[in-house]
Amino acid sequence: MKNNFISLRVRNIKPSPTMAVTSKARELKAKGNDIIGLGAGEPDFDTPNHIKRAAIKAIEDGKTKYTAVDGIPELKDAIINKFYKDNNLSYSRTEVSVGTGGKQILFNALQATINKGDEVIIPAPFWVSYPDMVILAEGIPKFIETKVENDFKISVDMLVKAITPKTKWIIINSPSNPTGSCYTKKELEEIGNYLKNFRDLYILSDDIYEKITYENFSFSAIAEVVPELKAKTLTVNGVSKAYSMTGWRIGYAGGPEDLIKAMAKIQSQSTSNPTSISQYAALEALSSSNDFLNINNSIFLKRRNLILDKINSIKGLKCNRPQGAFYIFPSCNDLIGLKTPSSKIIKNSSDFCEYLLEEAGVAVVPGIAFGMENFFRISYATSEKILMDACERIHTACKKLN
Ligand code: PLP
Repeated sequence: MKNNFISLRVRNIKPSPTMAVTSKARELKAKGNDIIGLGAGEPDFDTPNHIKRAAIKAIEDGKTKYTAVDGIPELKDAIINKFYKDNNLSYSRTEVSVGTGGKQILFNALQATINKGDEVIIPAPFWVSYPDMVILAEGIPKFIETKVENDFKISVDMLVKAITPKTKWIIINSPSNPTGSCYTKKELEEIGNYLKNFRDLYILSDDIYEKITYENFSFSAIAEVVPELKAKTLTVNGVSKAYSMTGWRIGYAGGPEDLIKAMAKIQSQSTSNPTSISQYAALEALSSSNDFLNINNSIFLKRRNLILDKINSIKGLKCNRPQGAFYIFPSCNDLIGLKTPSSKIIKNSSDFCEYLLEEAGVAVVPGIAFGMENFFRISYATSEKILMDACERIHTACKKLN
């Protein structure tokens, strides 16, 4: 195959590093190694039974054919209700899109709007896919480096420096992957009141972890907090995380009609509708009782507390206390420059994570994958027993560095 057969567009992007860690851990496990995988961004809970039953019923009822490209009307109505009930946002069916995961929704939105050279502001650390999705659309990711002292959140001052006439979008992700940080209503108000001054700047609000928050944190969506922004905001959400439905591939968004229409056009020329059966399952998820979410969140909270205590007790590691999602993002800065038992110097977060995998059999994701060196991400969506074991192993491995 000639070198230039694969497009420049594709050669310019990289595969998802979180998926790469997960598959490396899986591969090592399959070879018989004792590996604990804390790399994956998915809950370990099973999809609730009532949702599974709705999917089985959809199959039995013959709901197995093509559907409207960007979602069946019943699901769109359930999404409209969700946005109204949870976020005080009113959308009509033509302002709602259903796609194959939050990922496709974000991908479609960027493809639908970015011209070559348009800039997208991405606060770092960021979810791994944002920059590559922007590059695939021939846009330019512009990173705002946040600080651990500010809980990895951006401020108006930072935006003042980052916005240019070429800025098309800014991405806000709260609760955040990888840090678990959450923007308060006041913080969103400040940011939103500044952003509303820019006529041609749109906001991608990735709220996929909305339902996973702790200690009475009250989630706000930016389009709700600053209503003037609603016409310029795509509010993205999905069933993957809160409903333990990562494999079902249903994400959705509410936003301006022109954008939603353009996104549907792309979807009509790529995947067409998301799986019909999954759409009926998502309809059940959004229309029935959410009581199990409280139970899941209390389990996540116990795990978060446990892993934070353990990680913060390890010399050389320290971590903020996040209020959402199921990740922590500890600093390994104090271990950089130290030597492993085989005399290899830990130069950065990738070296550290490689060391943890080889020495401790624990798979975590280096901060550089999220655009921030000398940190790493732990997903605590696994049992307390496994987390305890992982922390013990990390502790022993860190003690061997000198
Ligand atoms: N946005 C963020 C911040 C995520 O972490 C993820 C999944 O990891 C997604 C979007 C995409 O989720 P989905 O599985 O619905 O495509």
